[in-house]
Amino acid sequence: MPKFDFDLFVIGGGSGGVRSARLAAALGVRTAIAEEYRYGGTCVIRGCVPKKLFVYASEFGHAIDDARAYGWTVGEKRFDWKTLIANKDKEIARISGFYSGGVEAAGGTIFHSRAEVLDPHTISLSRENSTVTAERILIATGGHPFIPEIPGRELAITSNEAFHLDALPQKIVIVGAGYIAVEFAGIFHGLGVEVELVYRGGEILRGFDHDLRHALTDIMKAQGITITCNTEAAAIEKSSGRLTLVTMQGERIDGDVVMFATGRHPNTVGLGLQKLGVKCGWNGRIIVNDSYQSSVPSVYAVGDVTDRVNLTPVAIRDGIAFIEANYKNNPNPVDLLYLPTAVFSQPEIGTVGYTEEHAREMFRRIDIYKSSFRPLKHTLTGRPERMLMKLVVDAETDKVVGAHVLGPDAAEMAQIIAITMKLGARKADFDTTIALHPTLAEELVTMREKWVAPAAKAAAE
Ligand SMILES: Cc1cc2nc3c(=O)[nH]c(=O)nc-3n(C[C@H](O)[C@H](O)[C@H](O)COP(=O)(O)OP(=O)(O)OC[C@H]3O[C@@H](n4cnc5c(N)ncnc54)[C@H](O)[C@@H]3O)c2cc1C
Repeated sequence: MPKFDFDLFVIGGGSGGVRSARLAAALGVRTAIAEEYRYGGTCVIRGCVPKKLFVYASEFGHAIDDARAYGWTVGEKRFDWKTLIANKDKEIARISGFYSGGVEAAGGTIFHSRAEVLDPHTISLSRENSTVTAERILIATGGHPFIPEIPGRELAITSNEAFHLDALPQKIVIVGAGYIAVEFAGIFHGLGVEVELVYRGGEILRGFDHDLRHALTDIMKAQGITITCNTEAAAIEKSSGRLTLVTMQGERIDGDVVMFATGRHPNTVGLGLQKLGVKCGWNGRIIVNDSYQSSVPSVYAVGDVTDRVNLTPVAIRDGIAFIEANYKNNPNPVDLLYLPTAVFSQPEIGTVGYTEEHAREMFRRIDIYKSSFRPLKHTLTGRPERMLMKLVVDAETDKVVGAHVLGPDAAEMAQIIAITMKLGARKADFDTTIALHPTLAEELVTMREKWVAPAAKAAAE
């Protein structure tokens, strides 16, 4: 008779939790998983997937305009928000089914319930009104959007609600300038909504390479998105159905909807972890070792709840590494160097490795190669938007340590460049790779001239 009901109990049916549960069950580990909302988690239900569908929806508006330059006669352009929401919801329900179905097919037990930890081996299930025991408990509860404690905060929405608005607003005020804020600015703008982005810092997309940040800011402004920096939200007021964002600087910014995209906090409140003595960081993130074990030996954590790099592929890799370390005796921490990331802004950003700023701190000498040009497609459409490509090279080894692209298909490029960088590609390897013509990506292998800062160039001349 086994000592516990399950060998592994996973709390949270998102990217990290489901992958861990499915792999464990497939190994014959007696596994159960509980999800309090919908299987698929943030990525599938209210993150990456619906967001990307919204990006596609908003890009069609621009594509229809561009088509005229290529000889198409286009009738009246109209967009129906309710159709988009209904089709998006149908697709998400389909994917969500795969997530729970995959665990069941592997032999795991599924609960549709909130779970909390009662002691190092006992979990309570609210819907079942019962408790179960497990040898190991894996917390994969993800995170939630954070809104600062300002008066009127209950009037604001977050990305969660943006996926279910009853109707498109005429104007939206988005507070924040991380990737979620910037992506939603592009989405709503493309769907015909007036957008104002309000940010307390000096420039959007903190942490990204400065050239991309400047270039994207210029493009977004040229498209008609208002970007107001160095401005901090102080309160939200409502009158005659409209909202006003009052700022610390004394401005009053009106809109129909105010959306906060001001970061996310791990979901650890009310999980019972504090009573158990699980060590957490300032924002509630669970602190784990290389095997994903917390300070309580039977409790583990993966994904956004550990607040390291909050991306779906990282949560999935965490899940795989958790199984390898704890059920296959193969500890193999996830390597986050040369992790490709994207911002699905319009145009999009794809980036891998060190920014120029970070590389200058980490390497003795670096070389920069960069190119800015108008994509061939826009020579006919007349769009002024330029593509930007940038390589950061460790001058001592010739290794490419950073690659940054702004423009169409940048994210797709970043995925492939990441492979070359993981293999240790040198700039010379890029140079001897034959270009694929005519593409945008060919510029990555044809940049020959080192970039010299204008001041240094003038001094040398
Ligand atoms: C708007 C938005 C866009 C994004 N876009 C991208 C993108 O383009 N690319 C990318 O890589 N990442 C993106 N992300 C991030 C990505 O969604 C997360 O990194 C990823 O989902 C984390 O997976 P996870 O398993 O750690 O947590 P989650 O996917 O959040 O899953 C946690 C699950 O646990 C459940 N849960 C919480 N508490 C309990 C409890 N007590 N009992 C039972 N269940 C519980 C939750 O309901 C949730 O379903 C985006 C996120 C957002 C918000």
